[in-house]
Amino acid sequence: MPKGHPEGVSAGHPGGHPHANGLSGSMARTLEDGSPSCKLIAWEVTRSCNLACKHCRAEAHEEPYPGELDTDEAKALIDTFPSVGNPIIIFTGGDPMMRPDVYELVAYATGKGLRCVMSPNGTLITPETAQKMKDSGVQRCSISIDGPSAEFHDDFRGVEGAFDMSLRGIEYLKEAGIEFQINTTVTRQNLPYFKQIFHLCEDLGAVAWHIFLLVPTGRAAQMGAEVITAEEYEEVLNWFYDFRKTTDMHLKATCAPHYYRIMRQRAKEEGLAVNAENFGMDAFTRGCLGGTGFCFISHTGQVQPCGYLELDCGQVKETPFPEIWRKSEHFRQFRTKEEYDGKCGVCEYHNVCGGCRARGYSMKGSHMAEEPLCSYTPRRHK
Ligand code: SF4
Ligand code: SF4
Repeated sequence: MPKGHPEGVSAGHPGGHPHANGLSGSMARTLEDGSPSCKLIAWEVTRSCNLACKHCRAEAHEEPYPGELDTDEAKALIDTFPSVGNPIIIFTGGDPMMRPDVYELVAYATGKGLRCVMSPNGTLITPETAQKMKDSGVQRCSISIDGPSAEFHDDFRGVEGAFDMSLRGIEYLKEAGIEFQINTTVTRQNLPYFKQIFHLCEDLGAVAWHIFLLVPTGRAAQMGAEVITAEEYEEVLNWFYDFRKTTDMHLKATCAPHYYRIMRQRAKEEGLAVNAENFGMDAFTRGCLGGTGFCFISHTGQVQPCGYLELDCGQVKETPFPEIWRKSEHFRQFRTKEEYDGKCGVCEYHNVCGGCRARGYSMKGSHMAEEPLCSYTPRRHK
């Protein structure tokens, strides 16, 4: 399943989305020219995948896709990463393990001092490949589990046996000494099982559990009925805030930018300062990092704000990646509050949230539209 999203070191979500796995990227906030430093890059090293998940943003299939960067092009791209900061690199897909040279690329990036994580679907992990990951320098893997049982998960993933194969893959990761996090996409179908999924993550020994709010794009565009309402999201995110206190596992709400508004509202009610001591890295991050601290690079080299938003911000085969990161017009928009439409443009939580640009695009037709699944009314709503 394709991935592509940001943070710490979330090992990313299938979809090329941020949230690296608890490791933090460069602490420098800006580059010499004033552009924000890039904290996290989700790189879709291949779009090929052996599964056919219902919510796959890339609508991936098993066959090779034309136009993938070859090994030399991929290494040349890695060479450019350190000049946008000290980003964590999420090797994502498709399933990154479908690419035979992926370990060579991870080792190359590790050799450049970059922190590397991987987001395979888990079904292809064997003792040998887990060891190759370890040897190449993979620091964390994210594995997606969307239901508490094989029956539920396999139906969601579109492959019988996927649940057991992913669990077996997790055991191999553990044997190789690679930490792992579980990613779960929130849908109407699995919401009633959230506590069970949480306990499964704890029992498996995950270091983190990241929940992802569905972005109706790619195959998930047909899953409109699975998208929960703004009010339900408010409830889920409040529940998540409370639940976070009950475990040592790192819980993170990803692509749910308004969680960072809720976190601050709740902290204020409880008289808690939003600082590292009380909230860890969550105290410093932003809800949507697309274009401001994170970006996605497709299998063909197209740079996008994230994997769910196919906005062409530049092509690394034509323009050096650091130039795209610094100068893309779309990224400039994402970095400018006045460019945001509707309530997200005037919201007092804009700087810590920003609303999901991909949901704005897929549900309201503009990447600068207000977040459709936030029920908050800012004080200065126009
Ligand atoms: S646009 Fe949405 S899906 Fe993309 S990084 Fe931002 S919150 Fe996540
Ligand atoms: S209105 Fe927009 S910026 Fe404000 S909390 Fe909601 S999604 Fe975030």
